[in-house]
Amino acid sequence: MFEQIARVPGDAILGLIDAFRQDTNPVKVDLGVGVYRNDRGDTPVLESVKLAEARLLEQERTKSYIGSHGDPRYTDAVLSLVLGERSPVLDAHRASATQSPGGTGALRLAADFIKANLPGKSIWLSDPTWPNHLGIFEAAGLDMHRYPYVSADNQLDFEGMISALEQAPEGDVVLLHACCHNPSGFDLDHDQWRQVLALIQRRGLLPLVDFAYQGFGDGLDEDAFGTRLLAESLDEMIITSSCSKNFGIYRERTGCFILIAKNQEQMENVRSQAAITARENYSNPPAHGGAVVAEILGDPELRSRWVAEVDEMRERINGLRRAFVDSLAPFGLSERFAHVAHQRGMFSYTGLSPEQVDRLRDEFAIYMVRSGRANVAGLRREQLDYVARAFAAVCQ
Ligand code: PMP
Repeated sequence: MFEQIARVPGDAILGLIDAFRQDTNPVKVDLGVGVYRNDRGDTPVLESVKLAEARLLEQERTKSYIGSHGDPRYTDAVLSLVLGERSPVLDAHRASATQSPGGTGALRLAADFIKANLPGKSIWLSDPTWPNHLGIFEAAGLDMHRYPYVSADNQLDFEGMISALEQAPEGDVVLLHACCHNPSGFDLDHDQWRQVLALIQRRGLLPLVDFAYQGFGDGLDEDAFGTRLLAESLDEMIITSSCSKNFGIYRERTGCFILIAKNQEQMENVRSQAAITARENYSNPPAHGGAVVAEILGDPELRSRWVAEVDEMRERINGLRRAFVDSLAPFGLSERFAHVAHQRGMFSYTGLSPEQVDRLRDEFAIYMVRSGRANVAGLRREQLDYVARAFAAVCQ
């Protein structure tokens, strides 16, 4: 039977990783893959995580199931991290959290939850968005629409976004990136979040906020501005959160599916549905990553060590953004790439064309996605001048 099954092309990013690995050029630069790197090009285990893991090794007494909603120590900690310590939403007991296998698992729970419980509702995704959003919502059988997000001259297209969403039928779901928009790096400012909130209220839409990079933009609380604004102003909302990046525990698959309802009664109702969705997908989430996060966030010393590590990762990225633009100045290109310093998160839409990206790879061994998306965290200080010279060469 299998002879009828066609082979599909692999993920473009995986292809890029292979090509990078095979490149023997000693100066090669990887701006493709979507993980944080330090200045030595490593993605190390955080100190706070290592310390928490040592404690867990000592203290763990069972490997029994943790239940469909996961570990309450973890989910409570994530709720406070996302919504704020003194959130009125938490005081009102109208938020439910379900531990999930990564942010991806949370998104799939959201998709299945919408499909099962909000029949006929479509989801609106930014154009561009993280490509896996398309795969996840399609696999769950949801109808998808797109709203513009980046203009042809590589700027945030806020007007285009708003006017498209004005057309969304009541009750449709709109996916928003909480911060550090992947792939573009263009984020909404406070005033724009307020306008999005007004639009959601006016049109009766349901926001799904994907929060995969908390702490990587402007700070742990700063990055939550839009998410908290919506949560405190609206009766209903979905949030998918990920600890992959800010705890550096990518492979531990640690995420959270959050449902906010009008009141505790309705929250308990939707929460019971979330448990079913989780059970039908994978029964129970993996426990280790959640236990690590709970250990860190629940211990003042580990927590402050972790906050310092998140600060360090963010400051490295934002420092590189500014330094990259500065290193383009000798080539008269700092104006043209000024947006790189203002974008947030690991990724930047550079504005380079696919042909320019090809030239960077073929002539300079600099690897990035053909859309022109660069992982800024993949840069090392010592490579800045080389990369700036290469950008200048392909921009001639
Ligand atoms: N959402 C966005 C926008 C992402 O970029 C990612 C990771 N690349 C995720 C969600 C999911 O992350 P994970 O499943 O690794 O937690």
